Amino acid sequence: MITTMWNPWHGCHKCSPGCLNCYVYFLDSKYNKDSNIVTKSKSSFYLPLKRDKQGNFKIPSNTEVATCFTSDFFIEEAEEWRQEVWDIIRQRNDLRFLIPTKRIHRFSSCIPNDWADDYDNVTIAVSCENQQKAEERLSILISLPIKHKQVFLSPLLEYVDLSPYLLTGQIELVSIGGESYENARICNFDWVKQIKRDCDLYQVPFQFHQTGSNFVRDGRHYHIPHSKEHDQARKAMKYLNNL
Ligand code: SF4
Repeated sequence: MITTMWNPWHGCHKCSPGCLNCYVYFLDSKYNKDSNIVTKSKSSFYLPLKRDKQGNFKIPSNTEVATCFTSDFFIEEAEEWRQEVWDIIRQRNDLRFLIPTKRIHRFSSCIPNDWADDYDNVTIAVSCENQQKAEERLSILISLPIKHKQVFLSPLLEYVDLSPYLLTGQIELVSIGGESYENARICNFDWVKQIKRDCDLYQVPFQFHQTGSNFVRDGRHYHIPHSKEHDQARKAMKYLNNL
């Protein structure tokens, strides 16, 4: 499936240990931009509705739209913009919208009135970095009326036992990523391996999407440039698939 990015707003507030070295803050700092200010995107707010000269949508059907990866979809400041985005998501029901969040506790107050009847094209991916945050957020995720649920363990900071949530049969994917850029904390491959085994036990699809910049495998430390993190994780996936 083709994937494209859509960031209808930008900026976020650190709210969790996983936010310490947030990549949004790191990248914005290079342009002296204050990531703590949440702004509506001028150029891409209506991206999924944009058409080419022939009148076709620029984003073709069946594309996965990675939505709000430089903010949090459920952040308070987006209150006045969010309904319009839900309308766009409903209009483009030929696309799949992947929405990550650390603010799943705000979900119920942020959904549209017709949520129960529609929005089969939305996947909510709850991001957690350690056992405590997984327990806080996934117990909420499991209780919510969401048709497609994923777990992002990103940045993974320790082994996380997801068993109580995997056994519900509600989680469609667990995706792991290490932390990137300067000051990145360790991602230990032993944790990744054990979580993969847990997913296998409950037959939940698993993905290791990036190693992080500070990767430990078999007791050895690797400093991996961000441009190579995805490739290295892809290679590691071949090993994991043979566990
Ligand atoms: S919630 Fe996500 S985008 Fe927001 S500060 Fe934390 S890591 Fe960054």
